[in-house]
Amino acid sequence: MENGSTNWGFRANEELDRAFAFPIKGVVATLMKNLNKSDHRPTIPLGRGDPAASPCFRTTPVAEDAIVDALRSADFNGRAPNVGILPARRSIAEHLCRDLPYKLSPDDVYLTAGSKQAIEVILAVLARPGANILLPRPGYPTYEAHAALNHLEVRHFDLLPEKSWEVDLDGVETVADHKTVAMVIINPGNPCGNVFTYEHLQKVAVTARNLGILVIADEVYGHLAFGSCPFVQMGVFGATVPILTLGSISKRWIVPGWRLGWIVTNDPNDYLQNSGIVESIMEYLNIASGPATFVQGAVPQILEKTTEDFFVKTINLLREAARISYDRLKEIPCIICPYKPEGSMFLMVKLNLSLLEGINDDMEFCVKLVKEESVIVLPGVAVGLTNWLRITFAIEPSSLEDGLARIKAFCFRHAKKD
Ligand SMILES: *Cc1c(COP(=O)(O)O)cnc(C)c1O
Repeated sequence: MENGSTNWGFRANEELDRAFAFPIKGVVATLMKNLNKSDHRPTIPLGRGDPAASPCFRTTPVAEDAIVDALRSADFNGRAPNVGILPARRSIAEHLCRDLPYKLSPDDVYLTAGSKQAIEVILAVLARPGANILLPRPGYPTYEAHAALNHLEVRHFDLLPEKSWEVDLDGVETVADHKTVAMVIINPGNPCGNVFTYEHLQKVAVTARNLGILVIADEVYGHLAFGSCPFVQMGVFGATVPILTLGSISKRWIVPGWRLGWIVTNDPNDYLQNSGIVESIMEYLNIASGPATFVQGAVPQILEKTTEDFFVKTINLLREAARISYDRLKEIPCIICPYKPEGSMFLMVKLNLSLLEGINDDMEFCVKLVKEESVIVLPGVAVGLTNWLRITFAIEPSSLEDGLARIKAFCFRHAKKD
């Protein structure tokens, strides 16, 4: 029989192609292919947020010891319950409810393999036929990817650069309808580096309540706020509107490879329980595979024993890196900096293409920048804003300075002569 004549029944799931159009990893991989191998200077990675690669952002020994102790105890070699082990859930509940006006129970906490899995779980749970979800623009494309995989319609609302990247709440009301299930906020913000005020979060809560939708609060950068606005948990408004909060040790403890995150139901009125959402989350976790048990076992020690000086050191590094980035970028005529970051590890700046020769969009800017200067910067199109750039500043300060100087040289070299 001829090989070519078999009518194979398998084919790849085309939805994955659609979903993979979004994630940042893919765009960065494309940019990396353009690296000029004859440039002997080090490549400066301002594209993806992975500070763990920089020695100055090493995690605290407290966290490392917690993992070693958990592993050596031999108590965590077995399978964990699908929702996660009780001591870890309890310590997360206690840790979070210190800043809340009501109690959280361990039963409000579900452990996930990083917040990324939390996003996967929540979008799968919410994706009823015909439903839609409201996502921020610019945003974090993992949400778009999982919405696409789950056939959950996405509608975007804007974050407003001239208002410290606050949510355009009128826009939220315009795009929502009776099929809308939830809105997502990311605070402190990726990609904008903004921190929402208490008053703004309250308005978000009231808007969502009036629309009858729940709020998904992505607080993966929780407490990484270094400006004038303190970090406030969305969960403070749990009595106004039901909230699913996402958290993780990835960013605050700078261990994204440990894959430990959580979903918390901030819902003192039990709306989520009564609507079956909680039940569905548990069902989903029954068929999923969560974080490694010994990492779960380390959580109580990590949360309870990490001392303030580690957090202060991280915050100081980020504040200084944000300041350097903002100041240097402002010196470049073709780059518009509407907002000085106050949280997370990123900032968004806008390209004034009319001042550049032979560069027609953000992707072209980034490809040429990689080729000529070995600097990786994320084109805004990857996070939903064409002709902007997202710059990660959580790297070694000397590399940051080097990268910013190369961006400046690049922009001056490509400036239109008048
Ligand atoms: C990094 C990131 C995540 C995922 O974090 P993990 O806990 O490492 O999975 C989720 N949301 C946002 C906005 C992020 O930047």
